[in-house]
Amino acid sequence: MKMQTLSAAEKRTYAVAVVGGGIAGYTAALALKNLRTDYIWLGRKPFGDKLLLAEYVRNFPALVGDGKTFSSRLEEQAEKEGLLFTEARIDGIYAGEGEFMLTQNSETLSARAVILATGVESAGSCKGEEAFLGRGVSYCAVCDGALYRGRTIACVLSAKEFAEEAEYLAGFAEKVYAFCLYKDPSFQAANIEIAAGVPTAVEGEARVKALLAGGKRYEVDGVFFLKNSTPPSALAGGLKTENGAVSVDRRMATNLQGLFAAGDVTGRPYQYVKAAGEGLVAAYSASDYVRSLTK
Ligand SMILES: Cc1cc2nc3c(=O)[nH]c(=O)nc-3n(C[C@H](O)[C@H](O)[C@H](O)COP(=O)(O)OP(=O)(O)OC[C@H]3O[C@@H](n4cnc5c(N)ncnc54)[C@H](O)[C@@H]3O)c2cc1C
Repeated sequence: MKMQTLSAAEKRTYAVAVVGGGIAGYTAALALKNLRTDYIWLGRKPFGDKLLLAEYVRNFPALVGDGKTFSSRLEEQAEKEGLLFTEARIDGIYAGEGEFMLTQNSETLSARAVILATGVESAGSCKGEEAFLGRGVSYCAVCDGALYRGRTIACVLSAKEFAEEAEYLAGFAEKVYAFCLYKDPSFQAANIEIAAGVPTAVEGEARVKALLAGGKRYEVDGVFFLKNSTPPSALAGGLKTENGAVSVDRRMATNLQGLFAAGDVTGRPYQYVKAAGEGLVAAYSASDYVRSLTK
């Protein structure tokens, strides 16, 4: 399948931006292409990580096999259909006058409609994580790292691939406690201390003061949760959620005009067939919405 980085993407306003490389985002991108609606499909990896983990998929029509078989069939189809995937980890979606601005660190792009298909984070969330968002809790090392120059922070890393972001933060902070939810962690920076235990709660008053983990209290000024899926309400300010799931109507429309959502991000059941179906509906709705803007 054709791939590009965000820096290489054409700098213009797209009709629809699909955020998320999983099955919901894939189905949405495919439908937009078939509808001849201009789109850009963004994500960390095409088809996501979860697909490769499924030992045997017994509930997707006509599929007999494991997640790797599923993934290679999607790859084959995407190639044949000429889909283009743009590698990006979007860290902000901002609603403006008739269009959205999407950011990845300092890079931006704009789109008239957005389909949010970012899945759910299987690592789960920590008590106080959402409450202290923007008050010491962050999901973006590059965006917020410099705010913690000379301070003590904690990083909760859901996978080894985030070690580089923890090292980046160690360049600002005086001390970094790294809670690694994977085996055999290691770091180059001398001011990173690998801490034991799974974080259970963020505590503080006006701002974060501590992180609780493994029965210990770590006094910190900030906590970075470095994980694959950013909670939707942290990505798009004002987005309505219920128990962490994005609230949508039957058109997959959210409370923010022009922003649609599909897949696990809208709640249970967490299944491929539901994600694919919602991706399709979201694509039709986004396409109709964009056309209505030009009438
Ligand atoms: C081990 C395992 C086995 C499973 N087996 C089955 C099964 O047999 N049958 C079944 O129906 N379901 C199964 N599931 C559930 C299924 O994987 C999910 O329901 C499905 O993947 C949801 O698709 P999605 O596109 O909504 O989200 P995801 O597949 O989670 O894709 C979302 C993608 O968006 C990316 N993303 C998140 N935030 C951003 C951002 N800010 N910028 C860019 N990209 C971002 C994520 O990294 C991810 O790649 C299984 C899940 C697991 C973990």
